[in-house]
Amino acid sequence: MSRSSISKTMQQVARSSSTIKCKRLEGKVAIVTASTEGIGFGIAKRLAEEGAKVMISSRKETNVKRAVEQLKSEGLNICGTICHVGKSEDRKNLFEKTKQEFGGLDILVSNAGINPVLTTFFETSEKVWDQIFNINVKSAFLLIQESLPLLRESKSPSIIIISSIAGYMSFPLLGAYCVSKTALLGLNQIAAATLAPEGIRVNCIAPGVIKTKLSQIVHESELGDKMLSQIPMQRFGETDDIAKVAAFLASDDASYITGETIVATGGIRSRL
Ligand code: NAP
Repeated sequence: MSRSSISKTMQQVARSSSTIKCKRLEGKVAIVTASTEGIGFGIAKRLAEEGAKVMISSRKETNVKRAVEQLKSEGLNICGTICHVGKSEDRKNLFEKTKQEFGGLDILVSNAGINPVLTTFFETSEKVWDQIFNINVKSAFLLIQESLPLLRESKSPSIIIISSIAGYMSFPLLGAYCVSKTALLGLNQIAAATLAPEGIRVNCIAPGVIKTKLSQIVHESELGDKMLSQIPMQRFGETDDIAKVAAFLASDDASYITGETIVATGGIRSRL
């Protein structure tokens, strides 16, 4: 079998397996940040397909409206609101609206992550460093902290942080982004250890290259072929590849898992 036909077969397997759905999240309420497109949208859709009521959000009202309409048209229990994760008022509103619409919270997925420029590490400006750390790290910490009053009321609370394979490996033009994603691995450890005695599980997902706007520069440029050759499964990831992992971690199937990071990269190694 040629390399391209193996890759096609694998893509078909990835797509067809996404039609197998169970209802293990029925009765749960989830918040997914940055969820009107990309990985966040995929996670929100999957959690709702598995029975959760999901609050989606992002910065732009038009994006929230479009995503809510799309998911509702598929019969999913979805609500949406504006939330720029770097704005404290928006985060406050996100939790209040979730409580108001769905009565509580069981699952927080902290997904927002940015990389505004491609630059060599020591050319990174202080402004860009602060932007990346504010959104990728500080707002993840604040979201977790601010979600606790609601999660403490839940019977099976769970938090999922979206890091990246870039947290384990250095990508030369994504230096500050890589450091921010490594910081999230640390945030996962300390948050999980702190919250374990209360029964709040905290886990992390480290995606490889997933086909979204954020990674367009990689998967749609000449860099793409080079990158693809380093992926043992010979394909870029789909958002549903990450959504399935999130649904598992959020579910009671993962009831004894906390402080863990699941690396979903098509085989790119993160450790020995
Ligand atoms: P993406 O395609 O850039 O995500 C876009 C979504 O994020 C949109 O819904 C956008 O809506 C929202 N958004 C952007 N900035 C926001 C902010 N400050 N507050 C709230 N929402 C915001 O990104 P993605 O590829 O799906 O990545 C999602 C997460 O996975 C990130 O943490 C990323 O680092 C991580 N990740 C991605 C890859 C990959 O290959 N794609 C690999 C590893 C890890 P608005 O414009 O309306 O705000």
